[in-house]
Parts: sequence; C-alpha cells; structure tokens
Amino acid sequence: MAKKRRTLLKKFIWIVVLVNVVCVTAVCLQRKKPAKPQGINTTQKAAAAKVPKVQKIPEPGIDIEAVGALPDSAKKNGYDAVEVWERLRSDNYSPLGRDESRNIPGTKAVFLTFDDGPSTTNTPQILDILKKYDVKATFCILGSQVNSERTKELLKREFAEGHAIANHTYSHEYSYLYPRRNLNLENFKADLKKTDAVFKEVIGPKFSTRVVRCPGGMMSWKNMEPLKEYLKANNMASIDWSALTGDAEGKRKNAQELLEYMKKELAPYITKSVDANGNEVEELPGLVVLLMHDTYAKEETVKALPSVIEYFKDHGFEFKILV
Ligand SMILES: [Zn+2]
Repeated sequence: MAKKRRTLLKKFIWIVVLVNVVCVTAVCLQRKKPAKPQGINTTQKAAAAKVPKVQKIPEPGIDIEAVGALPDSAKKNGYDAVEVWERLRSDNYSPLGRDESRNIPGTKAVFLTFDDGPSTTNTPQILDILKKYDVKATFCILGSQVNSERTKELLKREFAEGHAIANHTYSHEYSYLYPRRNLNLENFKADLKKTDAVFKEVIGPKFSTRVVRCPGGMMSWKNMEPLKEYLKANNMASIDWSALTGDAEGKRKNAQELLEYMKKELAPYITKSVDANGNEVEELPGLVVLLMHDTYAKEETVKALPSVIEYFKDHGFEFKILV
C-alpha cells in the first residue's frame, strides 16, 4: 500500500511540475509576442477623413512684443486709439484720412467693440462669426471674467485671431471705481493693473494695451480729469462709443430690435448732400465706434451680429481695431 501511495505522490509531483513549466512558457511567449499593429479598415479610414481637423490655435505671442493686438493685425487693421479718442471728443466723424482740399474721400471705418467678456457661451460664437466674415473687432476684457482655463483659452483665441484687446478694468464695480459717482484714481489704476497682469499671464509677458474702456463709459462719471491726465501721460486712450445696439439698455431686445436700435443711433450722424446730378445723397458717419456685449445672456447680440456686419459692409465700411 505504502509503495502505491509513493508512486501516486511521485505522479502528482510530476504533474504539478509539468503544469508549471507549461504555464511559465505560455506567459513568456505571450510577453515576447510583438503587439499586432492596429489595422485601419476602409470604413474607419473614411470616418477619420470625415472628422474635421481640430483647429490649431497658434500659441500666442509669449515672446512677441504686442501692443493691443498681434503685430501683423495691428499693422493691417489697427487704428490709433488716441486719435479715435480725440475724434469722439470733438464729434469728428468724418472718414479716416479724408482730405477735401485734395479730394481724398478717406476710409469709412467701423470699430466693433465687445464689452464684459469673455463668456464661455457667447464669445466663441462671436469669434466664429467674425472669422466667417473675415472682420476684426476690439474686445474690452473684464479681468475678473478670465477666471477659468476655458475663458483663458478664449482670451488667447481673441488675440491669436487678430482682434484687439482692451482693458475694461478688473472688477467693473462702480462703487469702487467711482464712489458717489466720483472717480477714485488709485482704485481705478489698481483695477487696470490687475487686468494687465491677467493679460501678461495669459497672452504673454510682453503684451500691453493702450486702450481702456471705462465701465459705464467715461462720459458717465464726475471728476474724470485725473484719469484723462494719467492716460495721456502714459500714451493711452479711453474709448467710449458713438453708437450702440442697446443690448444692455432698457428692456431685452431681440436681434431685429438690436439692429433697428443701432440704425436709430446712427441716424443723427447721417449727412445729406446733393450730388453733381442734383440728387440728394445720404451719407453715414465715416467713423463709428459700436458698443456691444459678449458676456453671458447676450445671445441676441450673437444673432444680430451677422446683420450688423452686413449693414456696414453694404455701406462700404472697413472694420478697424483700436490699438
Ligand atoms: Zn462693461
């Protein structure tokens, strides 16, 4: 009996050893086997071809010295903000470069400006529309709105796509910037600096802008002289507007109403003259700074924008940016 048990035990040990050898060999073979290349069949290839290429946004400036916008765009589309400021202050809306004595008609220019952004809802759509029509705009950025990776990307995209960047302060807080409706210069300067720091962090350390848009408009507040002096001393400009679509005024308007509001805003500046054939000719102002908003809840501004752009294109305007 004992011998039989010993034989059984031997057999058992041999089986265990054999099973182990087989397992180890199998594992080794599995490891050595090179990964099978992932073949792409034709259906997959076709699907891949259909997927639109992810738009690569060029990494902005970082090391580029830029004032207000990408240098190429500033050169092509930019217009001196200090001159525009002077023109608005003196109600001079004649076309840029007009010289009647030499019969030079000049360029009719519209500056589309968007305040209070970026917003993750409306800014991307506005950028898409501007790109579709190949026109540039000026974004008056609220530093406190650049508060997430997504909004930082949008600020970078605005810059990378050739638009101008203006400083609309950090807080937009009237009681801080203009307590009792009077300018507090130190608070205002501190707020501008905070947004400038955001620009330098997001766009690049060599970025700066000369353009300031005062929350509520410079025209709305008292004792603004010290700010005007500060901006002039620093070769900067405060740009209000000459027309608006009314997207932040009164009752909420739909896209059509925004367009009508804008046309009414422009009406007082239309000049009438008589041409060589004795016909009455109406001429729109040669310079328009248009205020709109790209912040949250401004979906109707997005819807109105194509008509706004087409209106100015139809009237022979060029789209300029403030730098
Ligand atoms: Zn604002």
